[in-house]
Amino acid sequence: MNLLQWLYDILFPLPAVCPVCMKRQKKLMVCDDCRAEAMRIRSMHGQCQCCHSFGVYSEHCHSCRDWPCYLSGNIAVWPYQGNWQQAILDFKFHNMPWLADALANELAVMLPREYDILVPVPLHKKRLQERGYNQSALLAGALAVKTGIPVKDCMCRVRNTPHQTGMNREQRLHNLHGAFAVKSNTDIKGKRVIVVDDVFTTGTTIRQCAETLYKAGAVEILGATLASGRGHF
Ligand SMILES: [Zn+2]
Ligand SMILES: [Zn+2]
Repeated sequence: MNLLQWLYDILFPLPAVCPVCMKRQKKLMVCDDCRAEAMRIRSMHGQCQCCHSFGVYSEHCHSCRDWPCYLSGNIAVWPYQGNWQQAILDFKFHNMPWLADALANELAVMLPREYDILVPVPLHKKRLQERGYNQSALLAGALAVKTGIPVKDCMCRVRNTPHQTGMNREQRLHNLHGAFAVKSNTDIKGKRVIVVDDVFTTGTTIRQCAETLYKAGAVEILGATLASGRGHF
């Protein structure tokens, strides 16, 4: 650790809390109670085998019936609701990029290791300027440290698309069509890729990224998100 970082950490310590329930902890980390609750929900309530939405008792949820063959699935740790949703919204919209490490910790343990690269879902340049950081890139960076799988920031957004909140699946599909591209100077032929994003809602983003990567030569693609939002229990 360099001196400046050491000094910065002393002057601006991260809050020693659980980002989900906000209870005091020894350091910034998800607490044992919240972790146990997530595990309990995972074992008590069914999950869609494709998108990992909670509260799905058949193999696939309604929206995953036409799941593409090149997308192995999506890994999600939490249901997108309650305190879990709040923690992700804080991370994404409330200028708390420093939550990345504590949140990624929960996802890292669920990721298979037999993949070649982690690819964050890109933000458009304009959105990046507004927010100051890409939450998916921060997650991917933290996941790389924990899993040993390197990050390859090989995708870009070629169109600045409106926020998807409130849109249905068809609107999202239309909104994101042709929005992503693989950067021209990167070669991902034959690569097994994990696409990293914060939340899987209708899956349009992960699917569009997967399609783009597949067309560029990736052989196997898996989604990895903190939460999956479809299906309630
Ligand atoms: Zn907690
Ligand atoms: Zn599903």
